Amino acid sequence: MPREPRYDVLFEPVRIGPVTAPNRFYQVPHCTGMGYARPQTLAAMRGVKAEGGWGVVSTEYCSVHPSSEDDPMPTATLWDEEDVRAAAMMVESVHRHGSLAAAELWHGGNSTSNLLSRNDSVGAMSLPAWYDPVQCRALEKSDIRELRRWHVDAAIRAKRAGFDIVYVYATHGYLLSQFMSPLNQRSDEYGGSLENRTRLVRELIEETKEAVGDTCAVVVRYSADVGGPDGQPNTEEPREMFSLLAELPDLWDINITDYSYEMGASRFVKEGSLEPYVSWVKPLTSKPVVSVGRFTTPDTMVRLVKQGVLDMIGAARPSIADPFLPNKIKEGRIEDIRECIGCNICSAGHRRGVPLRCTQNPTMGEEWRQGWHPERIPARTSDRSILVVGAGPAGLEAARALGQRGYAVTLAEARTALGGRVSLESTLPGLSEWARVRDWRVSQIDKLANVEVFLDSELDEDQILEFGADRVALATGAAWRKSGIGRWHLAAIPGWESANVLTPDDVMAGVLPQGPVVVFDDDHYYMGSVVAEKLLRAERDVTFVTPAGKVCEWAYTTDEQKRAQARLLALGVQLETGSVIQALAGDKATLACAYTGRARDVEVAAVVMVTSREPRDALYHALRARIEITRIGDCSAPGIIASAVHSGHRYARAMDVEPEAAEFRRERATAPPGTASV
Ligand code: ADP
Ligand code: SF4
Repeated sequence: MPREPRYDVLFEPVRIGPVTAPNRFYQVPHCTGMGYARPQTLAAMRGVKAEGGWGVVSTEYCSVHPSSEDDPMPTATLWDEEDVRAAAMMVESVHRHGSLAAAELWHGGNSTSNLLSRNDSVGAMSLPAWYDPVQCRALEKSDIRELRRWHVDAAIRAKRAGFDIVYVYATHGYLLSQFMSPLNQRSDEYGGSLENRTRLVRELIEETKEAVGDTCAVVVRYSADVGGPDGQPNTEEPREMFSLLAELPDLWDINITDYSYEMGASRFVKEGSLEPYVSWVKPLTSKPVVSVGRFTTPDTMVRLVKQGVLDMIGAARPSIADPFLPNKIKEGRIEDIRECIGCNICSAGHRRGVPLRCTQNPTMGEEWRQGWHPERIPARTSDRSILVVGAGPAGLEAARALGQRGYAVTLAEARTALGGRVSLESTLPGLSEWARVRDWRVSQIDKLANVEVFLDSELDEDQILEFGADRVALATGAAWRKSGIGRWHLAAIPGWESANVLTPDDVMAGVLPQGPVVVFDDDHYYMGSVVAEKLLRAERDVTFVTPAGKVCEWAYTTDEQKRAQARLLALGVQLETGSVIQALAGDKATLACAYTGRARDVEVAAVVMVTSREPRDALYHALRARIEITRIGDCSAPGIIASAVHSGHRYARAMDVEPEAAEFRRERATAPPGTASV
């Protein structure tokens, strides 16, 4: 289908200093958990973005010097010639598709702990690192001269690696924003007045232009606000600083200070939410402007360009969920766009030091190590028929990908609706966008004549045998446990059978107890807090009990934790952190301190256990000796939705492939023969 002419504007080239982007789609820098440690994984992943039509493809934060590194979260590095060769692999894979490659040069200042290099970190002032009990050394003026040289040297290396765009990174609390901060109390010409605090940024822009500006565009990443009370935009000082620098770079990459808003989970932040923060920028500069907003709607993109808010549509997450988003708009295939759901599992990969993963796009991070492509998949090599039982994220993805390969697939679902857990969970507060996991897969399956779908079809042992498929995938999911077994309690909580115990499955089915409710969260991700939010919004009196120190502690990896806790507090929750349910008896729950064991009784009308899940795998055990049956998704190992989608996809890819060939490749740093010294 030809694209609608109103989207043509998105495919206009954009001049950025000495280079020209082929269109307005700009993959802004984003973390990957790959960095210097996995250059081939990285090069393949970035190359797929360029193939999918992103006119600019950027690195993640790229350290200019060993005085700043972020292990165990691997940054990119441009410290030496080996780094140049590694970066050149990414550049080549981006250039192969006619896109521009951008290097986000970075120094973290006091933010980093330098656990790998064991160098002292350096900053505008001696301040604590973000995570570890260390402080940085304040840069002296001679150090600043050195730092400027490091930055220029890294820019020259970036140019040698072939990059078209080089960043000066002046936001997100890293070194340059530490200098620009009103809290910079230096007494020399790099602190105090506005001019002094912008001095280092100005010097770096000018020196980078001088060093590489003949062939490379220089981009500044800059914060449009400094945060204000109640989250209100405070753009006053950023505007003043901006006016001092407005015409210096070749393009402005604008974001905001609060990372949990800038890349906020969809539970808290919706598409295009940065617009009120960044819309002041363009009128103050003649240079092009890019910014983000988890854009997946082409009409929103067109509006922002036409209204003069942005020149380029920046994206990290939408480019992860669908590396082919630009090409799909270009080809008039908007319904094929795999829209980001805003869950931030991509960010969690980096925070945990492993390659990027994505709920919507199971091929993300697998481009090199498994040779997976987001759009292409090998055709079937046999005539096998496949029955997929259960249409949650695992079953839907298995059926879709098997169907794409050309197999004859039957998908049977017990319920009247497709989607399994995502259909249920998307009814919880803030999670409506999660239904996109279902919607995209259903829309793709609808196009496949070789995939048959049956609703209201709860299959039993005999029906599966009778169906006679050559292969069966059991994607029947898992049920939340009532017994309280989880991380804290390895055995059932005494008295759980006699009390009014519910699970998230009950709450999602519409059960809302009357009277005071205890939510016991030993899961530590989102479920406990969204269940509590639902109950609070229904004006129930909720006590949130968790052995952790915070509400949904693990969700620090997805930048949700603070907002989730703030929301529950605003709704009037009673928090009992560092506590567990010790026993239950009728309308009484015994809570105990997780550290001292000190116990007390509270009156409860009901308890919601958010502890762990029981795989629905009885059919597997009944049939495994008789037919070729495989458990996938939560039925195999209950986990996050991204794992279920990945599991379904892996099952489809592995069909008729020898097991050895399905293993993933690892990047190894083996010394060339003859050079090993130990
Ligand atoms: P996953 O996350 O692994 O995809 P879900 O719990 O989201 O798991 O989905 C499992 C799906 O399987 C649910 O929609 C459920 O209704 C369905 N299901 C469970 N048992 C059967 C069965 N025996 N026959 C058909 N569908 C089933
Ligand atoms: Fe979007 Fe979630 Fe994928 Fe990240 S992991 S790109 S937030 S769908």
